[in-house]
Formats: sequence, C-alpha cells, structure tokens
Amino acid sequence: MAKGIMIVAEQREGALRKISLELASTARKLADAGGDEVSAILLGSGVESLAAELGKYGVDKVFVGEDAALEPYVTEAHAEVTAKIIKENDPAAVLFGASVQGKDLSARVAAKLATGLATDCTDVKIDGGKLTCTRPMYAGKCFGEVEISASPQMASLRPNVFPAVENAKAGAVTKVDVKVEAQKSKVLEVQKDTSGKVDLTEANAIVSGGRGLKGPEGFAILEELAAVLGGTVGASRAAVDAGWREQKDQVGQTGKVVSPNLYVACGISGAIQHLAGMSSSKYIVAINKDEEAPIFAKADYGVVDDLFKVVPALTGACKKLIG
Ligand SMILES: Cc1cc2nc3c(=O)[nH]c(=O)nc-3n(C[C@H](O)[C@H](O)[C@H](O)COP(=O)(O)OP(=O)(O)OC[C@H]3O[C@@H](n4cnc5c(N)ncnc54)[C@H](O)[C@@H]3O)c2cc1C
Repeated sequence: MAKGIMIVAEQREGALRKISLELASTARKLADAGGDEVSAILLGSGVESLAAELGKYGVDKVFVGEDAALEPYVTEAHAEVTAKIIKENDPAAVLFGASVQGKDLSARVAAKLATGLATDCTDVKIDGGKLTCTRPMYAGKCFGEVEISASPQMASLRPNVFPAVENAKAGAVTKVDVKVEAQKSKVLEVQKDTSGKVDLTEANAIVSGGRGLKGPEGFAILEELAAVLGGTVGASRAAVDAGWREQKDQVGQTGKVVSPNLYVACGISGAIQHLAGMSSSKYIVAINKDEEAPIFAKADYGVVDDLFKVVPALTGACKKLIG
C-alpha cells in the first residue's frame, strides 16, 4: 500500500533552493499527523552533501541520484529519474514546488505516472491518507479544494507560502542507481541574471510600480525603498508593456506569482490579472491617489496620496527605523 510523503527537492549549483526547505517542513507536518515517513528526491551532480540540510528540515530519507546528465536541470532527464524513484517507492503523496522548475517537472511526472496534480497550492491537509489541496482559481477570484483520486496524490506548493521550520531528523541517504537514457534534448548554455537582484519569487519584500510611475525614471524611488527593505522591485504589466521595466519584473497572471512578506503596490490600480500574482503576499500596502482603486480592497494598509510624495517619505521613515 502506498505510504509516506515524498518531496522533490530543488537545488541550483550545489545549493538547495528555499522551496526545498518549505516542502520538507510541510511534508513533515503532514506526515507527523499520520505517523508517516518523509522522503526526498534530490538530483544533480555532486549533491549528496545537501541531504543533511534536508534532514534538518524534517526529511527521514533522501534518495540521491547523481549523474552528469542531471546537471544543470533538464526536463526530460529529471522527469525520467523522478518518475522512476516515485514508482519504486510508492509514496502516498508527492509534493513539488510551484516554482519555474517545479511547474515544469511536476506536470511531466504526473503524465508519466498517469496521476493527478493539484498545482500552485496555498494550503494542504491530510486526513486518513487523503490529501486535500487548496488552490486559487479564476486568477485568484476564489479558492477551490482539490482531491486526487489516482495514486500517488501529487501537488505543487506555491513558494513563500509555507514556512520552513527546522525539525532535525536523521536525513539518511539512499544512493539511487541512475541510468539516464539517451535524451532528445540537452542544455547548451544557461544565461544567468547578472543584475544581482533577488529573484521576485524568493524576495521577502517587493516594491512594485505601475503606470502611476509615469516613466522608467520614476522607478528610482522604488529602488531606494526596496534597498532599505532588503527587497526587490516588481512591476505591473502596464509598466512592462510601456518598456519601463523588463518582462522578468512583471507580477501577475502572465508574469510571476509572488508571495513575499511585504508587497508595496505603488501607482497600480489592482486589476484582477495583477492581483492573481500577488494576493497571497502576507502584508499588502497600496499607495494610490485614487481612493476607489480596486487595489485597496486587497490591501492591509493603504495610503491615498501622490506616490512621488509618499514613497520618499516612507523610505526616510524606514531608514530611521531599520537603521
Ligand atoms: C490576458 C491578460 C493578462 C494580463 N496579465 C497581467 C499581469 O500579469 N500583470 C499585470 O499587472 N497586468 C496584467 N494584465 C493587465 C491588467 O488588466 C491591467 O491593465 C494592468 O495591471 C494595469 O496596470 P497598472 O495598474 O499599472 O495601470 P493602471 O490600471 O492604469 O493604474 C495606474 C494607477 O496609478 C494610479 N496613479 C497614477 N498616478 C499616481 C500618483 N502620482 N500617485 C499614486 N497613484 C497614482 C492611478 O490612480 C491608477 O490606479 C493582463 C491583462 C490581460 C487581458
């Protein structure tokens, strides 16, 4: 009988991604409710030493698969090995990150295993071995509860929503014999973002700007606030379409889905497509001169005023507070 909860960990260049720790902690919490075991799949080349860190976050057993064909991440090879490990170990549930890599991998693995996948979940519960997943629907207008009737039950979890909690376990390592079949595709080159900016999906604080910024130069005051908060700058599609910011900065339905602790929306009206990308942020602050702007319905704190006045004042106040 299928048993235990398995996570599919992510690493890049020999470092675990934050989502891996969030998955480990969530799986631990679910497993503890049913006295189950948590296992993890960790693939790459020279990654065995990362297993101990997964153990610190509650993983009992780590299946490590190492092969040059698994580094850097490539869909085909990772999907093949991940599906094989899942099949051989028959877990009741498998959790992926709803990160760029996790979204890519989970869909293909679900197809290979002919099972269901609840994507981009913001909550998961387990009761009597049955996984119930909560996920936003209709661009975040409502939430649906999903159960998977096939086995294993698979879900991808939205980054930054589930806390990473240390909960030391043995983290025993099982080396998996990996034989990656000849692949139809290979990664020729990885072009790194050299801007030094924190990735939007992993940022703790995001200061986002929209059409209200009036032009690319308007974003300078957002950069200053983001620097003081230790965060990064995002943008609405209107700002991206106008060429004021790069596409990778776009938050929303056709941009990135983010869940920082703090999201400051400046000169953004709050269209449903924008809300789809940021409404699971822990605290939302809106600065808009139109008190009727829909963003205020989602905001925890709102300032109705000219952002060119409010943002520099906020930066000054934060500087004083944070030091
Ligand atoms: C299929 C589809 C997908 C989409 N995907 C996305 C997406 O991923 N992300 C996204 O953001 N949008 C997306 N959109 C576009 C979306 O519908 C909105 O058009 C867009 O979000 C509006 O951007 P905005 O809020 O910056 O601009 P506007 O709606 O024009 O709002 C500008 C706001 O700035 C305020 N303002 C102006 N000057 C000041 C000032 N000096 N001080 C304070 N406030 C000021 C105004 O009051 C106004 O509320 C999508 C649309 C479609 C159809």
